[in-house]
Amino acid sequence: MDMDAEVITLPHIGEKTAAALERAGIFTVRDLFYYLPRTYETYQAPTKIAEILPGKITVRGSVSSVNTRYARRRRLAITEAIISDGSDSIRAVWFNQPYRGKQLQDKREYIFSGNYELKNGRYQLTAPQVRLAQDEPEYVADNASSFQPVYSAKNGLKPQDFKKLLNAERPIFAEIPDLLPLSTQKPSFVKTGTRKDALFEAHFAQNQKAADKARNYLAYEELFELILAARLNQKDTQKLRSTPVLYNDQKMHELLNSLPFALTDAQKLAIWDIIKDLGKPNPMNRLLQGDVGAGKTVVAAAVAFQAIQSGLQVALLAPTAVLATQHAESLQALLGPLGVGVGLLVGATKNKATIKTKIKQGEVDLVIGTHAIITDDTKFKNLGFCIIDEQHRFGVNQRQKLLLKSPDGLAPHLLSMTATPIPRSLQLTIFGDLAISTIKQLPKGRQPIKTTAIQEIHLQDKLYPKVKEELNAGRQIYWICKSIEDMPSQETISVKRQATKLQEIFKSAKVAYLHGRMKPAEKDEIMAKFASHDIDILVSTTVVEVGVNVPNASLIVIMDAEKYGLAQLHQLRGRVGRGQHQSYCFLVVTGEEPPSRRLRELEKSTDGFHLAEVDLKMRGPGEIYGNLQHGALDLRIASLSDTHLISMAQKHATEVADNPEVMLKYRELSHVIQKYQQLTTLN
Ligand code: ADP
Ligand code: MG
Repeated sequence: MDMDAEVITLPHIGEKTAAALERAGIFTVRDLFYYLPRTYETYQAPTKIAEILPGKITVRGSVSSVNTRYARRRRLAITEAIISDGSDSIRAVWFNQPYRGKQLQDKREYIFSGNYELKNGRYQLTAPQVRLAQDEPEYVADNASSFQPVYSAKNGLKPQDFKKLLNAERPIFAEIPDLLPLSTQKPSFVKTGTRKDALFEAHFAQNQKAADKARNYLAYEELFELILAARLNQKDTQKLRSTPVLYNDQKMHELLNSLPFALTDAQKLAIWDIIKDLGKPNPMNRLLQGDVGAGKTVVAAAVAFQAIQSGLQVALLAPTAVLATQHAESLQALLGPLGVGVGLLVGATKNKATIKTKIKQGEVDLVIGTHAIITDDTKFKNLGFCIIDEQHRFGVNQRQKLLLKSPDGLAPHLLSMTATPIPRSLQLTIFGDLAISTIKQLPKGRQPIKTTAIQEIHLQDKLYPKVKEELNAGRQIYWICKSIEDMPSQETISVKRQATKLQEIFKSAKVAYLHGRMKPAEKDEIMAKFASHDIDILVSTTVVEVGVNVPNASLIVIMDAEKYGLAQLHQLRGRVGRGQHQSYCFLVVTGEEPPSRRLRELEKSTDGFHLAEVDLKMRGPGEIYGNLQHGALDLRIASLSDTHLISMAQKHATEVADNPEVMLKYRELSHVIQKYQQLTTLN
């Protein structure tokens, strides 16, 4: 059987069903067979109404009368029905499900499952689940309790539809081909036929144990695919050639001597790792991870300077114009005097054509910019090294475009920098082809940021006094809001309203706002004013999230904090604590709920690595690496905490990756892997 064939090739699927499945995003046989139950439940056999006792019950019957009334000023719909099965009848009640009225008028037989209980002095069946009896052969057959899959509804297809569809295809499951190679390093549970059995059991298991076993295999399969893709990426990278960078000790010292500070040991180590990689004739693919404020920029500057000494051009890609501009300024100040030609290329750059010509002719050694660098008409003379700041912000396609700008046949070295560290479990799976340097140590004299989560009602007593104190001490403040303008449907406070409010409260402070919809020139102006302390309080959306550096800012307030991920909050928090002043972060939550456990984690920890692990556990990888993966890498079955399965899959996948002949035999596997490779490669 071809798992890539369209669903219509299945025996019981006609054009109408195929179209409905397509609307639900299910195109191929594989899509359908891998549409696994959301959960399973043990169905109770129906009891005769005359024999029911209070508690959880299931009855089968039809409805003799049904009506809906409204209470509490029409905000509550109460639907009552009388269910009869010939032996007796009972009253059932649903709240805010007015459609039940219509649904149950048809006199057909239904199965009702729910709690039979005493309420307001009368017995009733409270909010029972309702299923059409003819859809439920298990009930109609009146057999004893049975274990059943429960599917999620999807785009107009009901859980029952999936159940029926898959049930009809039962016999076909026997034809599902094997997927995983049976090489020597495979775990013992992977055998001939394991896949078809697992898929069958995942849908039609008779008990939880069998279902769990099936899902365990499918989780393994999923991890194996990811890891194999990563291994193959690694091999592909090793085949590429690039220009080696020759280490120039004298130039390195020239640069280090011009710095106003001494590098931390962690920074030196990172530089050394990178220099060693750059010296090879294969492209480096390295991630530099270091918490916010760890000093990654100077590391990038040092290694870029080396590459430039070797005659290469270097591109530094930043996710926002604000950040690119700031990088350009500080790197110009640092490297300009040492003879490096620095150029900035962002959307708002005025003399773009001139700069592009200079880049093409090799007059600019270090090009700093945003997506403008990636556009097709930016050509380099000898691009040999790309540095990507805050790499998780860029899509894979964008990165690939940049890498294509190297001279023919050569691939540039790649250094990605991030403050959102990649948890170890992801390193081992998705990012298996990455070399990683970590700056764990912050520059001397930094004090951890004191973080407090508060409810909005405590702004006056807990936050405003602190704001006054910091302003009086001559410090500056970031104030982060979720939205730009007030919108009737939104509960979040907007940048504009917040700015007005703060100006009224702190009259002598200079308040300004910043958001992504402002013109780049306006944004740059505001940022520059904040940097030169012509603004005291900067109210902003998350455009200031990444990399911006104003060491005099010592307080950041994040409104509607519950709406952000931990990694993002940690990034935002990193806008302060960049100088010698004790810094503070206030996470303000809206509404009456106290701050969540997630936000409490931020109070407890300033370790980005720890927080990333917590976030990964609570929200999954797609949320953390949202832009990078577009959700495509969210594991459907496996969990990244499954270290045992991961380590088995690693051995197995490594062996397979080393043996291209094995891959050839598994056409379907290669097909899936290719897709994953494109999604996960950083090259
Ligand atoms: P990030 O890792 O978040 O990109 P930056 O590179 O922006 O951090 O550095 C944050 C601040 O720390 C900058 O002002 C930078 O000049 C300063 N810095 C970097 N390294 C050191 C060091 N070794 N000692 C003191 N300050 C440093
Ligand atoms: Mg940075």
